[in-house]
Amino acid sequence: MPLKERAVLAAVLSVFGSSCLAQNQQPQPPAAPTVQDRLARMMSAGTGAWTTDQLANMDRLRDAALTDPYALNELRHLTDNIGPRLSGSPQAQAAVDYVAAEIRALGAEVHLEKTTVPHWVRGEETAALTAWPGQTPGTTQKIVLTALGGSVATPPDGMTAEVVVVNSFDEARKLPAGAAKGKILLFNEIFDKRLAAQGNGLSAYGKAVAYRAGGPSIASSLGALAVLVRSVGGADYRLPHTGATYYAPSLPKIPAAAVTAEDADLLANLTRQGPVTMHLTLTPQTLPPAQSYNVIADWKGSEHPEQIVVVSGHLDSWDLGTGAIDDGAGIVVSMQVIHLLKALGLHPKRTVRFIAWMDEEQGGSGAQTYAQEHAADMANHIGALESDLGADHPTGITYAGPAALGDYLRPVAQVLDAIGASTLTHGEEAGEDVSFLKGVPGFTPTQDNRFYFNYHHTAADTFDKVDPQHLGENAAVMAVVAYALADASTPAPR
Ligand SMILES: [Zn+2]
Repeated sequence: MPLKERAVLAAVLSVFGSSCLAQNQQPQPPAAPTVQDRLARMMSAGTGAWTTDQLANMDRLRDAALTDPYALNELRHLTDNIGPRLSGSPQAQAAVDYVAAEIRALGAEVHLEKTTVPHWVRGEETAALTAWPGQTPGTTQKIVLTALGGSVATPPDGMTAEVVVVNSFDEARKLPAGAAKGKILLFNEIFDKRLAAQGNGLSAYGKAVAYRAGGPSIASSLGALAVLVRSVGGADYRLPHTGATYYAPSLPKIPAAAVTAEDADLLANLTRQGPVTMHLTLTPQTLPPAQSYNVIADWKGSEHPEQIVVVSGHLDSWDLGTGAIDDGAGIVVSMQVIHLLKALGLHPKRTVRFIAWMDEEQGGSGAQTYAQEHAADMANHIGALESDLGADHPTGITYAGPAALGDYLRPVAQVLDAIGASTLTHGEEAGEDVSFLKGVPGFTPTQDNRFYFNYHHTAADTFDKVDPQHLGENAAVMAVVAYALADASTPAPR
């Protein structure tokens, strides 16, 4: 019976209070597992690559992660005291020094590994309509926008041009020849809030982000003077969403900015009525590439110190907010893994390596440098965890690698059932940075991402958006999985 029909049947039967299904049909899972259920499932799944003592240690790690304030305190310092951490900025360097000192204080072996990062600096960013249908004489109308990371500048006094709006790349391609020439072209692709609300925030983001990344080159190929994209994400309150953009090397680089969803709607409405002219000023600067660092800290393995399990997040952030959910949270839940291993006196067989990646946002240079410099050692990388999808409630573990990882992790997932994080999901990748570690199984908390893209890359990505309970749950997933991989009798399948 197809799954859908079975689900319908189960729903109908439950409405009618039927307690049993025919034997060849799938029974409904219990609503909430009892202690007996959990014991039975544990026994049927077995303890896998772990002893009952090791599973008890995972219980302790999970419980400690929920109550220990270390991660939250570290997040508060990173966001409120250090602030935004754009690659190449003084705050990014301060964050490197701070995290290195903090993790060294836990007794881990810390070193910094050099990496060269883009050094882009935001400037003035203003826009106003100077002519539009129905304009009150002598007035202008403000447009809220923010430069995309890597954008080139307009002339210092700005540029004035007519605005052309298209909803998609396809519409842009179908414009009459020369229609965008000398104009400001807006890509008004609408972020699918409904898809995000269904728990598929990453899919909604993936569809819209193509315009942020590729819009400038397409607009340039059509002869546009500048390019705007509708902000990628579900943010209300007229918040623009920044993020990296890329220029095709063969085309002229044109200034690029994201307007808020509200301003995109306004521009779409007015341009339908007649010509709209905008004055646009963007003065960012691209400075020579800067030297920066990945922070690496080893909690040495007691039996196989050469074998490594990576726990990681990215230390750089965008500059509009303070990088709390993206990705201060990923950094501090990874720091919490080392802190809890120390607090509970746990020394797994293999090395647990904390990594604070530099420059995920503007190209991933930190992770690429690490992958190159440690290429000969990848076989010793047993697994790599990364948390980079915020800090909302985790529902389980996403693994990237062979399907056998699912069965392997089952006893570990049972430990996380107590916090509602026992689902096992196969994913394409487990994080942008760890995806550069070729052949290494990747793991990440599966997070509720319904709200993440409302704040991500905006000025509202601040400390208050992180729920301490949810942060603790994410730390629990990271700590339990990292310990499990590092202390298992057999390494994770790859
Ligand atoms: Zn991120």
